[in-house]
Amino acid sequence: MNSRTKILLIYTGGTIGMQKDLSSGALKAFNFSKLLQKIPELKQLDCEIETLSFETPIDSSDMNPSHWISIAGMIQSNYAAFDGFVVLHGSDTMSYTASALSFMFENLAKPVILTGSQLPIGDLRTDAKENLITAIQIASLQQNNNAVITEVCLYFEYKLYRGNRTTKINSENFNAFCSPNYPALVESGVHLNLKSDLFLTNDGAKDLIVHDSFDTNVVILKMFPGMSESVFSAILNIPNLKGIVLETYGAGNATTDEWFIKALTQAIANGKHIVNVTQCPTGTVNMGQYETSSILKQIGVISGKDSTTEAAITKLMFLLGQNTAPNHFKTVFETSLRGEMT
Ligand code: ASP
Repeated sequence: MNSRTKILLIYTGGTIGMQKDLSSGALKAFNFSKLLQKIPELKQLDCEIETLSFETPIDSSDMNPSHWISIAGMIQSNYAAFDGFVVLHGSDTMSYTASALSFMFENLAKPVILTGSQLPIGDLRTDAKENLITAIQIASLQQNNNAVITEVCLYFEYKLYRGNRTTKINSENFNAFCSPNYPALVESGVHLNLKSDLFLTNDGAKDLIVHDSFDTNVVILKMFPGMSESVFSAILNIPNLKGIVLETYGAGNATTDEWFIKALTQAIANGKHIVNVTQCPTGTVNMGQYETSSILKQIGVISGKDSTTEAAITKLMFLLGQNTAPNHFKTVFETSLRGEMT
């Protein structure tokens, strides 16, 4: 590790920095300076660490696009002065934030690594120290004075993942995340095992661009046998609704009921963007593989391919926020922007 490597640690909240309210017994966020006192080990790292914190740290269930914009702004205004960025974040919505940040940063040439923990940093059995220390070590990796990692990642329980490929899968285990359709980029054991051929590359020739607008007139809708026409139509007719991430069955299949196809066709004709992702934890949408998805393809449903729901919904909000031209929207959505789909 380069001794002059400078890392900016951004604290947004989450369990990692929480403590028990003695009267109610509930976990709540506390002052960031106390977090640093709790980890004297950080001083042993061979890099300079500076810290920034949300004025009011939050549980990540309260995250929304304005917070993503704040995090991106903190990184943008410190981009030249630091070699890497570690964002401490609650695990509940960490995959959404990682996905959103990945779309916001165009030409990213430095690491942005999100991490957190399942147990507070002060807990005897905490997972916070390993997550935080290794995330900082990975963010510090340099080769020929260039960052080794040049993308938005998520580090948890010995694995570094591409952030927009992750999903939270466990509310109790330390192993809380997985990346169902893309392998881990780094595995931490006795040595850090870097799978460099999986990394996004960037020679830093182009300047960082930060896109900071999202359109939240969107919804995620999970198909289930028995979904009624009136409920489905009511959702499609929400005023100002611009896009839907439809979680379908298997390889992108849905009911072929006439009312369903008619309602979707009408919504698309009215300019709404319908994105098909699978509700299976692993695998890809392949419209046309079954008769039950061929019709979706014909009427112009967008394929989310093997994107996670988190990546699909943030990409939808992002592309709508960029005012992507309606006639290009499907093509742009079906193109991998930051390695979020295969
Ligand atoms: N509820 C917490 C949060 O997401 C859980 C965690 O930090 O892991 O902020």
